[in-house]
Amino acid sequence: MKHVLVTGGAGYIGSHACKALDLAGYIPVTFDNLAYGHRSSVRWGPFVHGDILDRAALDAALRAWQPVAVMHFAAFAYVGESVTNPGKYYRNNVAGSLTLLEAMRDAGVGQCVFSSTCATYGVPQAVPIAEDHPQNPINPYGASKLMIERMLHDFDTAHGLRSISLRYFNAAGADPEGETGEAHDPETHLIPLVLDAAAGVRPDVTVFGGDYPTPDGTCIRDYIHVTDLAQAHVLALQALQAGASTTAYNLGNGKGFSVKQVIDAARAVTALNIPVRMGPKRAGDPPELVGNSSRMRTELGWSPQHADLPDIVGTAWRWHQAQRAGNAGQVIS
Ligand code: UDP
Repeated sequence: MKHVLVTGGAGYIGSHACKALDLAGYIPVTFDNLAYGHRSSVRWGPFVHGDILDRAALDAALRAWQPVAVMHFAAFAYVGESVTNPGKYYRNNVAGSLTLLEAMRDAGVGQCVFSSTCATYGVPQAVPIAEDHPQNPINPYGASKLMIERMLHDFDTAHGLRSISLRYFNAAGADPEGETGEAHDPETHLIPLVLDAAAGVRPDVTVFGGDYPTPDGTCIRDYIHVTDLAQAHVLALQALQAGASTTAYNLGNGKGFSVKQVIDAARAVTALNIPVRMGPKRAGDPPELVGNSSRMRTELGWSPQHADLPDIVGTAWRWHQAQRAGNAGQVIS
C-alpha cells in the first residue's frame, strides 16, 4: 500500500482528504502540530505530531513512512489575522512550506498536491475566475499561498518536484457519513456561524454589508462541498502519479450564492428561526467570488457530487448537531 504524508491532516479539509485517500487505497499519514487540528479527526491512518517548521521531524517522518507523495494542507488561514500579524503567516505558511519542500527534495519525494486558495487572485477583474486570471492577493494569507505556488514551480524547474496546486473557493459542508466536519476555534466562516445562530449557540448572525452591487445587496461566494474538494485532491494525486506536469486548478461549483441565500437555505434545512443583524462590510471582502473550474473537470474528470446549497448546508447541520450532542455528553464516534 502506498503512503501519502498529509500535512494538516487533522484539520477540516485535511481530514476529509485522509478519508478520500483511504477510500482510494492509499494510507494517509497525518503530520500535524495540532495548533488548530483535532487529534480525534485523525481516523484513517497513522498520526505524527510534528510541525512543518521542524526539519528534523519532517526528515524522520519521510524516512519512516517513505511516502509516494505529500498533500500539503498545514497552514494558518485567518485572513483578518494575517493582516494584523503577517509575520505569523509568512513564518508558518511560507517558511514552513519551504522547510517541507527542502525535506521532500532531500528525501527524494517528488510529488505534491498543494492546498491553495482563490485568495491568491485578490479582487477579481471579472467572474467567473479562471486559472489564468492575474494573481494579485490583497492580504498576507493570499500572498503567502501565492509564494508557495511560486516555490513549487521553481522546485520543479530545479529539482523535478512535480505539483498540483488546488485553488479552493469557499470550502463548506461536512462528511455526509458524519465522520468528520468543520470545527474551527475561533469560528469565522459564514455557514457554521449561521448554524450556531439556528441552534441558539449564538444569539444571531451578522451580515457583513447589505449594499454590495449584487441582486440582494449581500456578498456572493462559490461554496464547494469539502467532500468534493477531497475527491479533487485524490484525482490530482493520481494525475501526478501518472506523470502529470506541474499546474494549478480552481475548485468551485461555478455558481455563486449570496449571504442571504445561504441564510435562507439554512432556515429551510433546519426549520428553525435564524435571527439576522445587518452589520458593516468586512474589510477586504470583494462583492462576488465565483470560480471557473472547467479545467479540473475536463482534464482530471472531477465531478462534484454535492453541488446543491441544501446538501452543503444539510451535511454541515448534521455534523453540527452531532457535535453538540457529543459536547452534551453523548459519544459520537
Ligand atoms: N459573512 C457574513 N457574516 C459572517 C461571516 C461571513 O456576512 O459572520 C460573509 C462574508 O462577508 C463573505 C461570506 O459571508 O461574503 C463568506 O465568508 P467566509 O468568512 O465564510 O469565507 P470567505 O469568503 O471569507 O473565505
